[in-house]
Amino acid sequence: MVKELGMLQKTKVELADAHSHLDLMDGMHLINEAIEYGVSTIITDGVDTKSNLKALEISDYERIFPALGVDPHNAISISEGELEFNFRLIKENAERIVAIGEIGLDYMIAEDARKRAKQKRVFNQFLDLAEQLDLPVSVHARKAIDDVLSVLDGRRGLKVQLHYFDGDVKEAKIATGRGYMISIPPVESGKRKRVIKETDIGMLLTEADSPVVGASPKDVERAVRMIGGIKGIDYERAAQVLTANAKKFFNINKEKGFMRY
Ligand SMILES: [Zn+2]
Repeated sequence: MVKELGMLQKTKVELADAHSHLDLMDGMHLINEAIEYGVSTIITDGVDTKSNLKALEISDYERIFPALGVDPHNAISISEGELEFNFRLIKENAERIVAIGEIGLDYMIAEDARKRAKQKRVFNQFLDLAEQLDLPVSVHARKAIDDVLSVLDGRRGLKVQLHYFDGDVKEAKIATGRGYMISIPPVESGKRKRVIKETDIGMLLTEADSPVVGASPKDVERAVRMIGGIKGIDYERAAQVLTANAKKFFNINKEKGFMRY
């Protein structure tokens, strides 16, 4: 009896963090704590050459999986040589990575036309690569959701995660209508709550975006609770559905081992 009780207590709710920057976290302590807590699937996104290399290094392909990309911030100033290096890195590791990301547009950072044009060109080059390699993309869109949706529009076959989705219900409907996943951070707002209410739970992902937004991947718990509360389902059920969504989106099948093909 005592033994059974012990086993029951050990049952953890499985959680997924669909976008994070583990390379920026201060040591492995908080990551291990999150895994211990039940975060079974963590995607760590690279933003430049250094963090892409680090993402490959810290991934264990069991719980931590890498996505490689150049984010809109670094896209503005990256040299052609370094961009080529990152394209090659993605091609060489295409069988090991679960997505191309973080990529996208950020008009808060790119305030003039020249910077925006460079961001858009780099974004398009990574989208070409994603189509070529048949990889999902993790897309950043800040003050640029309309342009992100229009750039993606001609690319119907792509699997898209709209990371830290900050659009309204109308934009969410356009996105999910095309099959894109809406990624929910642990940050509440009236707009986000309306989006969650109006979006099928099958089209939602959860992310902590740690250490930028959450302190650790464990903070996805707050996104899961928010979604569960709005959908009127219990926490365990919400976690189960949202974790399954992440595994499906990133093609992670742990029973078979991590296999893309
Ligand atoms: Zn990010």
